[in-house]
Parts: sequence; structure tokens; C-alpha cells
Amino acid sequence: MQSVKIQVPFLDLKAHHDPIRAEIMAAMAEVIDANAFAGGKFVTKFEDEYAAFCGTKFCVGVGNGTDSLWFSLLALGIKAGDEVITPPMTFMATAEAITYAGAKPVFVDIDPKTFTIDVTKIEAAITPRTKAIMPVHLFGQCADMDPILEIATKHNLIVVEDAAQAQGTLYKGRKAGSIGHAGSFSFYPGKNLGAWGEAGAITTNDPVLREALQMYREHGQKKKYYHDVVGWNGRMDGLQAAVLSVKLKYLDKANDGRRRAAARYNQLLAGTAGVALPIEADYGRHIYHVYAVRVSNRDTVLKKLGEQGISAGIHYPVPVHLQNAYANLGYKRGDFPVSEACGETFLSLPMFPELTDLQIETVASALKSSLSH
Ligand SMILES: *Cc1c(COP(=O)(O)O)cnc(C)c1O
Repeated sequence: MQSVKIQVPFLDLKAHHDPIRAEIMAAMAEVIDANAFAGGKFVTKFEDEYAAFCGTKFCVGVGNGTDSLWFSLLALGIKAGDEVITPPMTFMATAEAITYAGAKPVFVDIDPKTFTIDVTKIEAAITPRTKAIMPVHLFGQCADMDPILEIATKHNLIVVEDAAQAQGTLYKGRKAGSIGHAGSFSFYPGKNLGAWGEAGAITTNDPVLREALQMYREHGQKKKYYHDVVGWNGRMDGLQAAVLSVKLKYLDKANDGRRRAAARYNQLLAGTAGVALPIEADYGRHIYHVYAVRVSNRDTVLKKLGEQGISAGIHYPVPVHLQNAYANLGYKRGDFPVSEACGETFLSLPMFPELTDLQIETVASALKSSLSH
């Protein structure tokens, strides 16, 4: 008998949505019946639910996770001439938000174990112009927030968490996004909590910040057609809020599914020569938005996996300080060796809550055979 080749997608949104599809469709019908498309009561409902989930007083829904970073900085008073410290191993949006607030991104390398900002290197990057630190909870694992907050307090800096990949991540028992002055979330479809389109949100305990964020997402107005600041059109869409309200109910279960898949990968790949496995820091709970291993001949391995029907990915091949778009900042290769080495060796394996044992075993053995050729 011929063996059936198993294809493993990088992400299977259909497998995730099928069991809750009818519930989501019904929730969307309610929005349509109420004509509550831009902002409105379904957004308010999701905001209340997500604030409760994160353990913050407030949540402000916006258009996407780039707006949420940008508005956070604007609403906290970041402006031209300011510097914001962030890691270079992140998605471009983190730095873009700093640039669009008028400030300058100042990069600090990542820790080789957690892939989040190296807290021992932050103070050396602080100048009189530094106004904020923006740690990134990369791949679903929290940056080490206590030392970051300590440094921030000492130097009077704002802390904005880029929690785009960390919906439900824990740090010492607290939810990501509830620890700094503001937490910024993306609900891009591929994120652990994903909309059926674009959406984002900011969590905070600060009522003044909440009000400022509500203004920025609404053209700088508190009262319609009376504009106190120059804002933007950054509202959350009502249909997305309704989808997110349904999906939030299943987020913990989905994150548990990812943790189960990660544990199984860890088991199957333990001791494999040439593969470094992800490490969960003892201070927190990783939600494995991305399950990234490190392999030295990464591009070859990626290609070989593809030939075997396994869709792997790279997050991210080029650290932000080496992107053409930021050539003007004057960084060069060698400035952030850990981020650069990770960019060359990171390999993201298929990861989603519904991964089956058979799929995980298929990926693990395909990875082993790709290495040994
Ligand atoms: C996805 C992501 C963003 C941007 O979110 P969008 O909703 O796509 O705008 C920002 N930062 C990080 C780390 C992300 O992964």
C-alpha cells in the first residue's frame, strides 16, 4: 500500500473556525441588524470583555495593532525629538509606530534565551532624550517586565508593551498588557486572538490615557466636530468586535492547545543535534504564537521541509535595524549580534491549537531528515 503524504500547513484557521462558525455568523448578524459598523456598542462590549480578560480597568479598541502602538505613544505624549527604546528583533510595526509618533527608535539587543529585550543592556541606551521603553513579547512570551519597570521608574520613562503576539500570556501571574502604562494588542487574523479582518486594542489602568486614546482614534474629538487634537480615523469595526467577543471565549482553550503542541514538539525534538528549542522562562507562561527553533543551515532546511509538504516560516529574517527603510538611523551589521544570529537561524514550525499528534510527528521527523542531509 502506498503511504499517504501528510501536508502540514503553517496555520489552519479553518480548523479553528469550523466548530464556532455558526456562533460567529450569528454574532455578525446582530451587528448588521443594529447597523453598528464603525465603533458602537459591540466595540464597547468587546472592550469591557477584553479589559476583564487582561485584568485592566480599560480597553480601547482600534483599527489594528499598528494604530494601537502609534496611538499609545501619541496619547502618552511622545513627540519629535524623543527616543524610544525597543528591540530590533520584532515585526516592523513596532518601530514604525515610534517613527510615526515623530520619535526615534533606539534599539537594544535581545536575550538569547527568551528572544525578548535584554534587560541588562537597556540602561546603556538611555540618553536625556529617552522617553519610553517598548518591550515586545515576542512569539507569545513576556519580556522580563520587573527589571524593565525598575529602570523605567528610575529614569522616569513610559513603558508600552507590544503585546501583539501575547493575548493571554502571563508574567508572574499577571496578563501581558496589564503591566506597563499601556499594552498594545493586534487582532490580525493570524494572531492567537484573530479577527475576521483587521483590529487592535490598547489596555490600560489609566483613565486619562483611556480618554486620550478615545480621542486619537476618533479624529481628536470628544464631542462630534469639535477637535481638541489632530487625531486619526482609528476606530475598531463593529463586525470585528463581534467576532472577537465570540473568539475570546475560546482563547484560553486555544492557548492550551498551542502549549500542548509545543510540549509535544519539545519531546520529539529533544536532544536532536543542530536544533535549539524554544525556552519558557520560569517567570511566565508562554502561549507559543510562534514556535521557533534555531537551526544553522536554516534556508536549506526550510526548503527541504517545503519539499516534504511542511509549511514553515521565518519570524523575522532581517532585524529592523538592518532594514533598508531604517538605513538613515545609521546602524550596521554587528550592532546587535543576538538579533542578527537569530535572523539567520530562526525557523518557525507549524503552530496552531488544532495541530494533531500525527501532524506534529510528521513535522518533527521531516525536520530531523532535513537536517541530516
Ligand atoms: C502583528 C504585530 C504588530 C502589528 O499589528 P497589526 O494588527 O498587523 O497592525 C505589531 N507588533 C508585533 C510584534 C506584531 O506581531
